[in-house]
Amino acid sequence: MESYQQSVQDVLQEFNATAQGLTSAEAQQRLQTAGYNELKEADRDPVWKLILETFKDPMVVVLLLAALVQLALGEVMEAVIIFAVVLLNAVVGVVQTKKAEGALDALRQMTAPSAKVLRDGVKQTMAARELVPGDVVTLEAGDYVAADGRVLESSSLRVNEGMLTGESEPVEKHTDPITGESPLGDRKNMVYSGALVVYGRGNFVVTATAEKTEIGKIAGLLASAEAKQTPLQRKLATFSKRLGWVILALCILIFGVEAFRVWTGTETQDMTGALLKAFMFAVAVAVAAIPEALSSIVTIVLAVGTHKMARRHAIIRKLPAVETLGSTSVICTDKTGTLTQNKMTVVDSFLPGQSEDQFANHPEQWSVSERWLMQVAVLCNDAHINQDGAELGDPTEVALIAYSNEKRQPYAKLRREFPRETELPFDSDRKLMSTVHTIDGQRMLLTKGGPDVVLGRCSRILVNGEEQSVTEELLDGIRQQIEEFSDRALRVLAFGYKPLFTSGGVTFEDEQDLVLVGLKAMIDPPREEVFDSIEEARKAGIKAVMITGDHKTTAQAIARQIGLMKEKDIALTGQELDDLSEEELDQQLERISVYARVSPENKIRIVRAWQRKGKITAMTGDGVNDAPALKQADIGVAMGSGTDVAKDASAMILTDDNFVSIVSAVAVGRTVFDNIKKAIAYLFAGNLGAIIAILFALALDWVNPFNPIQLLFINLLNDSLPAIALGMEKAEPNVMRRKPRDINEGIFAGGMMKSVIARGVLIGAAVIVSQWLGLQQSPEMSIAMAFTTLILARTLQTFAARSNTQTAFGAGFFENKYVLGAVLLCFGLYGLTVLPGVREIFSIPTDFGWDEWKIAAGLALGAVALMEIWKLTPWASEKKQLVK
Ligand code: ATP
Repeated sequence: MESYQQSVQDVLQEFNATAQGLTSAEAQQRLQTAGYNELKEADRDPVWKLILETFKDPMVVVLLLAALVQLALGEVMEAVIIFAVVLLNAVVGVVQTKKAEGALDALRQMTAPSAKVLRDGVKQTMAARELVPGDVVTLEAGDYVAADGRVLESSSLRVNEGMLTGESEPVEKHTDPITGESPLGDRKNMVYSGALVVYGRGNFVVTATAEKTEIGKIAGLLASAEAKQTPLQRKLATFSKRLGWVILALCILIFGVEAFRVWTGTETQDMTGALLKAFMFAVAVAVAAIPEALSSIVTIVLAVGTHKMARRHAIIRKLPAVETLGSTSVICTDKTGTLTQNKMTVVDSFLPGQSEDQFANHPEQWSVSERWLMQVAVLCNDAHINQDGAELGDPTEVALIAYSNEKRQPYAKLRREFPRETELPFDSDRKLMSTVHTIDGQRMLLTKGGPDVVLGRCSRILVNGEEQSVTEELLDGIRQQIEEFSDRALRVLAFGYKPLFTSGGVTFEDEQDLVLVGLKAMIDPPREEVFDSIEEARKAGIKAVMITGDHKTTAQAIARQIGLMKEKDIALTGQELDDLSEEELDQQLERISVYARVSPENKIRIVRAWQRKGKITAMTGDGVNDAPALKQADIGVAMGSGTDVAKDASAMILTDDNFVSIVSAVAVGRTVFDNIKKAIAYLFAGNLGAIIAILFALALDWVNPFNPIQLLFINLLNDSLPAIALGMEKAEPNVMRRKPRDINEGIFAGGMMKSVIARGVLIGAAVIVSQWLGLQQSPEMSIAMAFTTLILARTLQTFAARSNTQTAFGAGFFENKYVLGAVLLCFGLYGLTVLPGVREIFSIPTDFGWDEWKIAAGLALGAVALMEIWKLTPWASEKKQLVK
């Protein structure tokens, strides 16, 4: 018999389980036989395949052809260097892919789905992969179902299993057995892995895990994480393509001029040999000019960025988010838990007709109103406090039961006395929760919720223990009290009840005609770090906007406290927002700092309004209903404590739920972008320097300043490690003092073009001077000197590229160990080229001695020194617009 045809008892028996769950030991044993509850991952490409992939690049094909030509010419060493270049590129490419995969894997592990399981009789959260058949798992709105199972309990448990059945409407689950054969979609007493709980609560016993689940049977394999290209990567790809054409034209020009010279020259006998040499030179120029490592560097720096963010409690789920974060101008944030500590404490109560001395006496002497207020607060409540003091559940509810305990009325005793019969779970749209109990022989509906909502559903009010009809006067008194609490930044809940004269379940329609009992007010102090963080965001040109389900006055009071709301700012309720037209909203948008009592649709509208103004908007959320707004936002930010759905819809997850972590992630995002630009500028400036020198020599009919092997060697040395090392640079001191970057801004914006050209020209000029000095002795000497100057200038340029605003010493010479390491390595490898035996290969003549070296090196050092001195001048640095 299938599980859905069996009774709950039979299923439990079949799986040798109980409704209290398995013991850890038993679960461990089952894990041995059943295996982990996870789908196998699709195979990754092996390394050899990735290396082969790189040979698809036309550039690599040209290089290999060139190597063959060299071999044919008998130039073995040049061929070897070309192979080394090709191999190094392949290795960097593979490292990049592996690094990105590794980063994504690590992030996925951190955001792995979890499940709330009963083990050893205690509810605990654990990785979903640990689930075994027989485990009892609890579900609530927002959870993904982590395995297949038979429902044991359902309180209006509604599940969307569209991924299996194609049905978009959620299905309400029950526990009764179903007779006969039934298709998947009709098995309303089963839940299936991958389905989403949209409402209610319940639990189920696991009947199948991993590939034995229905989804496992279909899918079998889990798609590997895929790295999406970021906007910058896409921009770079198009740019590189264009650059490729320009370089091709340049190479044809160089080849043409050389060929023409051979043609018209008189001294050359070996025509083919000379042409092949000209071809080799053109290829070497292409290699020198094309920044092959570019895309690898971008990916590596992005991957390193995600790692840094994870350490600061922000887990990136989508790689492009790293970049987008750097452009964030608006952060729409929840209040409770994100700006505040979510540590609620009841500090005040209000009972109509009894405003003094509430709960002052022993519970035995409590007034009727006091008793009712505490009963509703404790019974219409899902929170628990363990024997060892651990608090479980919604902090708002924990505060209520803690208050009861404090007032010498143990909450657990009350719950035992009046057990819950049925319930209407809390949801943040309704802002209400109700439970049914029999009290003193009468079936009662107990309701708690937002005070405005409860007040709107009351027809009577308990005044001094007597039920009275609602009057405007009474209502006014209560409203006044709500305002007074809210002004003190307190969260207010209202409590009511109503007798029920029917048996069986209740519906939302029953939450009417209530008797209002009273109010409780609790404090939720702001997180201490939030004050500074909001100020930091403001200085960085980022506006923080509070969006909360809470009461307007409370929200406003807290927003003022933490500096989020300034003098001229305004607060709106969801209702008031609904009344605004799009134009009116656009007009006021910048002034609105607080949105209170919002609905999920409001959230989307707010995001869209900011996006209309071209602002990159981050939005936090935790609930099921938040998912659409999280998707709409440029950066959806889910809370680590939030629901699976919210996490799924987000680009980033905050493991500590803290607003501060968003701001520090933005800082990292900005730094990552800066560093990528620094690496790009470094590459382009170096390449430009070489090209300038080559074109200059060509124009003046000098010998080529470099020969192919030198160019290839420089490329090998300078295009990889120093650029990656620049990607590890620390943040610029003004990183959070400038305005957010425009996301559509080009790669060379913000003064980068200026730096690239300036540095390229300086390097080029140094090489030209060096070659000219060499030419005074011999053409061979001019080549040796030009080569020495170029390689040293490009290597030393790494220091200048470290910062756009500070000199290498200003930024701390020893701060970036990677740069020091990369530069030392480059020097070391360069040193090899002047060794006897090797220097012939690099065409360094024997008379190139210490004196010539000092001149060549001095010119390189001079060029880099000028780059640094330039930074100290007022015209220099990329003058980012600082926020006033
Ligand atoms: P945020 O700032 O994160 O939006 P919030 O807690 O105010 O915080 P919700 O959790 O959606 O947002 O709650 C909305 C409103 O519902 C609260 O302001 C409160 O009036 C009411 N409420 C909150 N928790 C409960 C609960 N457990 N039972 C009944 N009503 C509640």
